[in-house]
Amino acid sequence: MPAPPAPTLAPRRPTRQLQVGSVGVGSEHPISVQSMTTTLTSDVNATLQQIAELTAAGCDIVRVACPSQDDADALPAIARKSQIPVIADIHFQPKYVFAAIEAGCAAVRVNPGNIRKFDDQVKQIAAAAKDHGTPIRIGVNAGSLDKRLLQKYGKATPEALAESAMWEASLFAEHDFHDIKISVKHNDPVVMVRAYELLAQQCDYPLHLGVTEAGPAFQGTIKSAVAFGALLRQGIGDTIRVSLSAPPVEEIKVGSQILQSLNLRPRKLEIVSCPSCGRAQVDVYKLADEVTAGLTGMEVPLRVAVMGCVVNGPGEAREADLGVASGNGKGQIFVRGEVIKTVPEHAIVETLIEEAMKIAETMEAE
Ligand code: SF4
Repeated sequence: MPAPPAPTLAPRRPTRQLQVGSVGVGSEHPISVQSMTTTLTSDVNATLQQIAELTAAGCDIVRVACPSQDDADALPAIARKSQIPVIADIHFQPKYVFAAIEAGCAAVRVNPGNIRKFDDQVKQIAAAAKDHGTPIRIGVNAGSLDKRLLQKYGKATPEALAESAMWEASLFAEHDFHDIKISVKHNDPVVMVRAYELLAQQCDYPLHLGVTEAGPAFQGTIKSAVAFGALLRQGIGDTIRVSLSAPPVEEIKVGSQILQSLNLRPRKLEIVSCPSCGRAQVDVYKLADEVTAGLTGMEVPLRVAVMGCVVNGPGEAREADLGVASGNGKGQIFVRGEVIKTVPEHAIVETLIEEAMKIAETMEAE
């Protein structure tokens, strides 16, 4: 009998459903993790190479910038050869929006408010997107908020972001186009969370979560994790992107881990290691790092406990699939609750890795 689904903190907020290429988006589909390429989109090979790396890391949907004609010209090859759906990210230029739709991109990110300022082709874009079944993401950012709303609210408040997004969506809705998902990003998690909460009350469009310009990896990871956690706790969020000033693969690792932590995607390898303290009888940091490195890439939901002493060690090690409780220069090795052997400290890592491989084989066979 299959295992029951792991408990989550909240039911998903009911939304409209979209199809972004092969990936379903909305409350009836798993939350997907996105990133954005950093290559020149016009460099097809480099962009496809980076997309392949992102795909291998677990990326579900990828976005590529399209600021020039050369980039637009590259879209057909990228959309055709990418293993995951490609979203073209376009500002201002309607001709690139049509090019992206024709190129077979799975979706286009564009703000109709920007298009309207230059050349009002929102109606034609809605018609082309509808003809091709191409959803649109409206992405409102603090930095590019409409001047009218900046004047009304004085700055990019949550109310301003939500109102801006609803106004942008209405520009498509008046042409009977509703295949839309929305983001209202801000670099302050408090403003961002409030903006999404307001937006979630005002529409049933799927929402794409992001803390924009979240910063370097450490700060950006924390800002994104707390903000996404606050929203996912309320069932808000259908796709996520962790924005980091770091290689995009790191964004996917963090995003996947956030979802795994909340049981919103199946857990894979999980290392339960103690923080160490004055009672530790081994170098817990080194042990945890070496075990993590040795098991990186493991795809099965293996829980491995690495504990520094006999106080909490046996308890945690017993609860995990595999664990070690260390003490007196030795490690007691637990497999599914039973002590299977005691090894000298220098053999702990290799024993854990060896046993992990055996358990993984059994899990894969089950
Ligand atoms: Fe300290 Fe032992 Fe707890 Fe680790 S398991 S934090 S060493 S008491």
